[in-house]
Amino acid sequence: MDRPLKGKSLYNPQAAHLAVESLEDIGYVSKSVQCDLEYVRHPVGFPTDLSNGVPAILLADHFNASSIAFGTVLESAYGIGHERYRDYPIGAHYTFYSTLFNAVGLHLSLPMAGVSEVGTAMIVEKSPIGFVAQSCIRGTMNNPCLKCWKCFRKATLGRALELDSGSPATISSLLSREVKSKLLAYPISHENVVAFSMRRYPREEIDSDDSRILDSLLERVKGISDLDFLTRWYKPSQILVHSSWREDFTHKILDFLEVMPPKESSEIESWSMDSFLADPSTISAHDQLEDLFNEP
Ligand SMILES: [Zn+2]
Repeated sequence: MDRPLKGKSLYNPQAAHLAVESLEDIGYVSKSVQCDLEYVRHPVGFPTDLSNGVPAILLADHFNASSIAFGTVLESAYGIGHERYRDYPIGAHYTFYSTLFNAVGLHLSLPMAGVSEVGTAMIVEKSPIGFVAQSCIRGTMNNPCLKCWKCFRKATLGRALELDSGSPATISSLLSREVKSKLLAYPISHENVVAFSMRRYPREEIDSDDSRILDSLLERVKGISDLDFLTRWYKPSQILVHSSWREDFTHKILDFLEVMPPKESSEIESWSMDSFLADPSTISAHDQLEDLFNEP
């Protein structure tokens, strides 16, 4: 969906346009369709989180599509990194929307639902077409804004995973007002990803400012398990891929990621942050982080 911009907007579509063009140049069928659906509403915005699929739904017959796929990750589907696990395939969101899609002869596929944000970064690094992926929607291609919440997560994760495509930005330079307020949320959105990155952040390369911030963030997330499972694929999620391409998909994803062993799948299914968030030491670490951010 190509959203026409009207008035002031932080959103910059340049990277998305270039991604579509690059994929077309190397032989992928890729189309973008102008759609101003978001302006139907006041205030401007999408009526649901799947609204960006509207052009694909309308053109499904034209493209002979059996299914429409979205890039929802493990954290958003199964609640990992949020308060507690939810059995997404039988939950209210998927049941409601998959029924709507089925009513017009389409399947709703979520192939990334078993891959965490850590896993998607690993796929982007390894894939020959990974260079077109950019999560920041404010910056331009290869020039992310480095001020938004996504940029903070991606840049610190890139350092933790030692990605060649990672950003050299320091932690302190990424701490915009928006990022500070996200880090002070309780729980932090995608707290598992922040914890994963802080645990593996290359400490030997950082200055004293970054060291203090890193220590404070580590203290805040220290009660979370070691999270190694985030580098692997949660296989039960394959049920969210249409049966006609499930086998092909499974084969492809194994080129990039290992499968979580049963012990790690159980860790997913028993994910809960309740006791960790109620722990006085986590609350106190949150307060100390707030004090650090408020220092002049
Ligand atoms: Zn950004």
